[in-house]
Amino acid sequence: MWDMKSTPVRSWLNEHIPTPSLGRDISSEQHLTQPIPLEEITIPTIDQEEALTSDIGSTWMTPIFYYLDNGVFPDDPLEAKKIVKKSFGYNVLDGWLYRRSFLRPWLKCITLEEGMAILIDIHKGLCGSHEGAQTIANKVLRQGYFWPSAMDDAKELVRKCKKSQEYNFIPQALVEKLSAIRSPWPFY
Ligand SMILES: [Zn+2]
Repeated sequence: MWDMKSTPVRSWLNEHIPTPSLGRDISSEQHLTQPIPLEEITIPTIDQEEALTSDIGSTWMTPIFYYLDNGVFPDDPLEAKKIVKKSFGYNVLDGWLYRRSFLRPWLKCITLEEGMAILIDIHKGLCGSHEGAQTIANKVLRQGYFWPSAMDDAKELVRKCKKSQEYNFIPQALVEKLSAIRSPWPFY
C-alpha cells in the first residue's frame, strides 16, 4: 500500500516521469539570446492630452447625482429648487445613483437608452412574448432598474410594435410559440 509519509511526491515524480536531456543542442535557440533594442522616448508623440469624452450632461441623472455627490446646484435657482426636492427620493452608493424605497430594494438608476434596451429585450427578446406595457414595465422594476419614464416608454414600445398591433385584439392569441424556461427556484 502506498504510504504518503514514506513516499514523498517529489521522489515519485523523479521515478516515473522522465527528465529532459540536459545535453541537448541549443544552436537552434541562439536567436532567443539576442539583445532586444529598446528606445526611450522623452518627447510626447502627440500634442493634445487624451481624454475620455462622454455626453453625461444629457442624462436625467446628472443634476441629481452632482447635487447628492458634490453638493453642486444648477445655476438657475428654480431648477436648483426642483433638483433639491427631487433628490430626496435618491441616494448615491459606490458612485452610482439609486432610487430609494422603504418597501423594496433600492433600484439602480439607468439612462433612457439602457432602459429601452432592457424593455425591448423583455418585450421581444429571446423569451419575450410581446406582453403589455404595464407587465414589461413592472418586470423592469422587479429586475432592480429605474428611470422616470419607464411606463411611458413601455407604452410607446408596445404601441409601435408590429406584432403586438396584429395580435393585440385577438383574445387568447399568442404572438410567439411558448418556450420552456428553467426556473432556478420552484414556483418563482
Ligand atoms: Zn410586441
